[in-house]
Amino acid sequence: MQIRYATDLSAEQYVEREAWRKARLDECPIHPEGGCGYCKNGTYKRKYPEGTRVARWYCSVGHTTFGLLPDCLCSRLKGSLNEVESVIVDVESSSSQEEAADNIRIDIDLPGVLRWIRRRVKLVQFSLAMLIDLMPSLFSDCNPSISSFRCVLCVESVLPELRSRASLYLHLLPPPLGFGPRPGSKKLKKNHFQHETGTDPPLLTR
Ligand SMILES: [Zn+2]
Repeated sequence: MQIRYATDLSAEQYVEREAWRKARLDECPIHPEGGCGYCKNGTYKRKYPEGTRVARWYCSVGHTTFGLLPDCLCSRLKGSLNEVESVIVDVESSSSQEEAADNIRIDIDLPGVLRWIRRRVKLVQFSLAMLIDLMPSLFSDCNPSISSFRCVLCVESVLPELRSRASLYLHLLPPPLGFGPRPGSKKLKKNHFQHETGTDPPLLTR
C-alpha cells in the first residue's frame, strides 16, 4: 500500500539528500491502536531517478507493506510527477500528439511513443476530471488540463501540489497522481460509487 510522504523536495533533491531516511510513519495505518507487530521494513529501490529508494513499513497482522512515496514521485509509473507533467504540457501546447511525440526523446518508435504519451494523458486527465467533481469549490471553473489547473492553483508544478491539496482523495485517484486503481477497473467504480452516494447516517431514536 502506498502512503503519502509530504515533501517539497524535487525528485533530484530527494535522491541527493537521501530523504527516505527522514520518512516516518509512526503508527500502523490499519491498526492505530497498535499491538499488530508494526515495524520498519527497510527500503525498496526505484530505477528512476537513479539511486531512488522508498522507505517501507510492515504490519504483520494485516500482512501489509506500506511504502512512503514522496510527493515528487509517480505512483506505479516510472520517474517523477514533474516529468509526466511536462509531457502533458507538451501535448497541450502542440497541435497534435504526433507533434508532441517529436519532442519526446525516448528510445522507441513513433507508435510506441504515442502509446506512451496517451497512457499518461489519459491517466492525468482522468484524475483532473475526478478532482473537478470532488473539489468543486476549488476547481469548478477548470477543465481537465494542466494549464487550467496551473491558473487556478498559481503554481508551476500542478501534480506534486495536488498530492497535498487533494490528499484526502488520493485513494480514489488513479496513478501516477493517486494511489487508487486505474480507470476502468471494477475496484475504482466501486470506490467512486461509494464516495458519491454514501448512505445517510442512521436516525437517532429516543
Ligand atoms: Zn497493523
